[in-house]
Amino acid sequence: MKVLVTGGAGYIGSHTIRELVRTGKHEVVAVDNLSKGHAAAVTSGATLEQGDIRDSGFIEGVFARHKPDAVMHFSASIVVPDSVRDPLSYFDNNVCGTVTLLRTMVKHNCKYFIFSSTAALFANPKTIPIPSDEERIPMSPYGDTKLVVENILKWSEDAYGVKHVCLRYFNACGADEHGDIGEDHEPETHLIPIILQVPLGKRQHVKIFGTDYPTDDGTAVRDYVHVTDLATAHIKALDFMVTKNRSGRFNLGSGKGYSVREIVEAARRVTGHPIPAVEEARREGDPAILIASSKDAEEQLGWTRRFDSVEKILETAWRFHQKHPTGMH
Ligand code: UDP
Repeated sequence: MKVLVTGGAGYIGSHTIRELVRTGKHEVVAVDNLSKGHAAAVTSGATLEQGDIRDSGFIEGVFARHKPDAVMHFSASIVVPDSVRDPLSYFDNNVCGTVTLLRTMVKHNCKYFIFSSTAALFANPKTIPIPSDEERIPMSPYGDTKLVVENILKWSEDAYGVKHVCLRYFNACGADEHGDIGEDHEPETHLIPIILQVPLGKRQHVKIFGTDYPTDDGTAVRDYVHVTDLATAHIKALDFMVTKNRSGRFNLGSGKGYSVREIVEAARRVTGHPIPAVEEARREGDPAILIASSKDAEEQLGWTRRFDSVEKILETAWRFHQKHPTGMH
């Protein structure tokens, strides 16, 4: 199939393109405005179209030139505190951008859509591990932009027959096994790349945000899932839509939670560096525990994970960062 990947130069998008190209079955067009992504992250097996999904003329041109059969939509603004400070720019990019993309898809009779959704839909989960049908109650404008798009997709299926799969990533991490692409955000806010900056000599210590959570060691618990496993979930989701002619929403995680302290400990083992840690107050808006139940993805998509321990995940991230100390530049 011909697959259009928005945000294809970003972290999860670029890893998904690698996996799509590796199947040998798909032709891939990446779309990215390169505001955050890196052109170097797009494998030479894919075509990169540089532009913004909110620019209807640009996106129309891309559809007219490439005639994609399916869209994987990764491009979005992702920093939760920024979304609290400036919700309108988040709704503009994440919601208006998606509407422009969907309008163009409908016009060009493109019927399959995979959406990057998020664990941020679940601010106060009643059930842990969190099942895919847990009530969606976001706690930030960022999470709300993702909820709005999930709802837009439901109505668009009813009205225009667009099949869709929403994939809610829990904590995406790690890097392609070959070590040539990985996580490189500016500014970096995610725990694992921040921890690895210490052995890389870029920071003195890691800050642990909150030690008074109702968890075993007082630090927040998250579900860390390897980016290549997330990438393969997209390929399974595409198969599911096409062969079963169905839509769906799936939580994607490892089913296991690790505290911040446990991740720091694991990073010390993997890197052999002492990685000093300093305790700080909680970061605003962080829930205590987020762990996914991926049962639906396993049963309905046939999704399996290759990276089943945080050590393996950290090893791939560490390999990437050692090879690319200045990131994807
Ligand atoms: N965290 C931390 N120190 C950091 C960055 C993150 O203690 O420098 C904590 C954060 O408060 C959260 C967990 O690590 O409990 C994972 O944070 P991250 O930003 O990686 O992902 P999130 O769960 O917010 O999507």
